Amino acid sequence: MGAERMSKQRVIFCDFDGTITVNDNIVAIMKHFQPPGWDELVQQVISKQISVREGVGRMFALLPASRKQEVIDYAIGNVTIRAGFQELLDYCRRENIIFYVTSGGIDFFVYPVLSAFPIPKDHIYCNGSDFSGSHIRIVWPHACDEHCHNDCGMCKTAIIRSFPAEAHERILIGDSVTDFEGAKLVDVVFARSHLVQLCEDLKLNYYPFDDFFDVVKRLEEMK
Ligand SMILES: [Mg+2]
Ligand SMILES: [Zn+2]
Repeated sequence: MGAERMSKQRVIFCDFDGTITVNDNIVAIMKHFQPPGWDELVQQVISKQISVREGVGRMFALLPASRKQEVIDYAIGNVTIRAGFQELLDYCRRENIIFYVTSGGIDFFVYPVLSAFPIPKDHIYCNGSDFSGSHIRIVWPHACDEHCHNDCGMCKTAIIRSFPAEAHERILIGDSVTDFEGAKLVDVVFARSHLVQLCEDLKLNYYPFDDFFDVVKRLEEMK
């Protein structure tokens, strides 16, 4: 058995909001449409008084489903992609690194924004949406399994655990509260914003980054 067979397969789990995109799209939608009570819900999620699933679900439930097209158009039109993202995808393809988008965001903005990039749809995990009622209802096709009690909504830990540590070098890229539980599981974290503090507090193996050029450079050095 050669060294190549013994080396672990690298796999990246990359957050969307505030990571692939410069801004958090859920917060941007709420700031724009200003449904009464949204800001308290954001604060309660950040301070962990309520779960991400509960907070996101309740925030969108404040918006009438009749505003569907406005909400979608605003979300997609508002997005800025962080520098170096295409280069990271190119690097992963070249180096045979498996790349997944693991997003706590919603299908109606995650898929359209990522359609500009060569990422297979089955490598994108996010939450769903239902506009058929009076208000927007978020649906959770990737909720926590029996091993996670965090009520994530989109459970990154369940996806990460499906790639056993014995065979994979697991790498998480993220920025905030939806990344906290996953960050505790992986071998390496690339962190921005709130996630830097969590990594510091828990003494995780992490690298701060500003853009994806930093990530590519560091991945190359880690080889
Ligand atoms: Mg994020
Ligand atoms: Zn979970």
